[in-house]
Amino acid sequence: MNREQMIESVKAQMPEKRWQHTVGVMETAVVLAERYGEDPARAELAAILHDVAKYWPIAKMEQIIRDQRLDFSLLAHDKQLWHSEVGAWSAEHEYGVTDQGVIDAIRYHTSGRVGMTKLDKIVCLADYMEPGRDFPGVDRVRELSGESLERALVAGFDSTISFLLSKEKAIFPVTIEARNDLIQQLREAE
Ligand code: FE
Ligand code: FE
Repeated sequence: MNREQMIESVKAQMPEKRWQHTVGVMETAVVLAERYGEDPARAELAAILHDVAKYWPIAKMEQIIRDQRLDFSLLAHDKQLWHSEVGAWSAEHEYGVTDQGVIDAIRYHTSGRVGMTKLDKIVCLADYMEPGRDFPGVDRVRELSGESLERALVAGFDSTISFLLSKEKAIFPVTIEARNDLIQQLREAE
C-alpha cells in the first residue's frame, strides 16, 4: 500500500474533524522530526496511522485486545487509551508496517512510556500541539517545543494530568511514570 492509499484508507475510518487533526499531527511531526534529527518519513507514517482506530466500535477494540493478547491492563482503564494499542496492531497487521519504532510510537502516543524514543516523543508531542489543538496550556507546550522535546512533553502531560484531576478521573500510571522519566532525563542533561 502506498502513502496515498494509506491516507485514503485512514481518512475513511474517521469523521472529517479527526482527519483534520491527523493532518495537523502529520505536519507537526515532520517539523519536529526535522528540528530534532529524526527521520521525517517515519514521523509522518506514525502520524498518519496514530488515530486509525479512534472511531472503531468499543467492542471491536476490546475483542482485538483480548484476541491478540495485547495489553490487558488497558481494559481496566479509560477507553480513550485503547485506540493506541489497537492502532499499533492495525498498523502492523492491516497496513504492513514493519518498523517496530513506528509501531511503538503509535502504541504509546496517548500514554507515553518509560524510555520514550525520540520518535515516541515527536508523535506524542505533535498529537498535543498540532494547530487544531486548543486546551489550557497548549501555547506553553508549543513554545517549549522550540527548545526541548522533553520539556514540551512534560508540559503536555501536566495539562492532561491536571485535567484528569479536575474531573476526578483516574490517571493511567504509565503516564505518571513517563513524566517522571522525562524529568529524570532533563535532570541528567543539566
Ligand atoms: Fe490518539
Ligand atoms: Fe491524535
